[in-house]
Amino acid sequence: MSAGLIVTKEPGKHAVLNGHPWLRGQSIQSNSADLTDGQEVEVVDRDGNFLARGIYNSSSYIKVRLYTRQAGQKLDEDFWRSRFKLAIDLRRDLQMLDPEGACRLVFSESDQLSGLIVDRYANHVVMSLTAQATQSRWQMLAKVLQETFSDFPLASLTVRTDPNMMGNEQMEAVDQTVGGVLPESPIEIVENALRFQVNIRDGQKTGFYLDQRYNRQRFAALAHGRVLDVCCYSGGFAIAAAASEKVTHVTAVDSSLPALELAQTHADLNQCREIDFVKADCFDYLTHLKQSGVKFDSIVLDPPKFAGRRQDVDSALNAYTRLNRLALEVINPGGLLVTCSCSGRVFPEEFVQAVTVAGRKAGRDLQVLFQSGASPDHPVLLSSPESQYLKCVFCRVL
Ligand code: SAH
Repeated sequence: MSAGLIVTKEPGKHAVLNGHPWLRGQSIQSNSADLTDGQEVEVVDRDGNFLARGIYNSSSYIKVRLYTRQAGQKLDEDFWRSRFKLAIDLRRDLQMLDPEGACRLVFSESDQLSGLIVDRYANHVVMSLTAQATQSRWQMLAKVLQETFSDFPLASLTVRTDPNMMGNEQMEAVDQTVGGVLPESPIEIVENALRFQVNIRDGQKTGFYLDQRYNRQRFAALAHGRVLDVCCYSGGFAIAAAASEKVTHVTAVDSSLPALELAQTHADLNQCREIDFVKADCFDYLTHLKQSGVKFDSIVLDPPKFAGRRQDVDSALNAYTRLNRLALEVINPGGLLVTCSCSGRVFPEEFVQAVTVAGRKAGRDLQVLFQSGASPDHPVLLSSPESQYLKCVFCRVL
């Protein structure tokens, strides 16, 4: 089948030439009449010059997800195979393919595979479809991925649609384990020499926050005294810190009971000294600590995404300021504050500004030790600023 045709307006053309992987509706001048969703399309400028090839979806606000700017490159099996190979080669070079460990094998736009996330937990793999472009050809993608991953035998490959994207993308649910068997019991992985269990079926994200791997390690190296892990999920930061001799006590807070139960399992699995797990809203709990006069020496703040859309950014920044201010009001002088934002719509300088305002309001000075992002298996594609979603600022509080 020949590809459909999309003609871009001038601003859209420049975005495509700059390597942005999306073409939004407002960038489209015209398109061939009989396009179907999931169809391959060629994007051209008003003079008919080829710009890129992608996959069309009339229902999404991202009308075309772009995959190649190479003229004549078809999106056939060989194309996907070469993209998977490129992605897996990176993780191998990063030495992230140890069979007992876990890593992100494919990170959507950042690996020029818009709409597709692939995570590996030991020898089990989960493919998460975040766009109709990938959902509409998931069987082929699953087959090609299995053929391409050759570092060790995979025990299972599970394919899921991302529930948060089903409405935006108008895609039907896929939830299947293909090639192998996914055990009923959770999968055990090793991260930074600690053991964690991952529930691919109904954990948050695909089961584990792989992106914080190196930040957890750095936090554990710097944490001391009384530690507070705010929004702890399955306890990654708390358990890493509890292993340090400089740490005397750990409290970990989350609003989700299943997350806290899993965190307790992880504490037991790693024979941690006692960690207090608390079910509470993070704002309420920090307010309660402030009122009770309880102080900590090391705090990590890793809240959920506060801004899903650009129009939510202002309220998200206010929430970051409020949360950081509360943390700064319960931290001892010389304390370590590690503060994170995983909202792709909030740019790093905006987040740092929100923390600066929090410092001013709390009457505390902060020294930034370093700023980091996600682990390198979640690379940032410079032409897609949204891919720099995780910001993590390590500070000493004076
Ligand atoms: N730090 C974790 C990941 C945190 S993800 C890790 O290293 O694995 C964000 C967490 O915030 C989720 O577990 C979610 O349950 C929790 N959360 C969401 N809203 C919250 C709130 N208002 N108060 C406390 N926890 C909240």
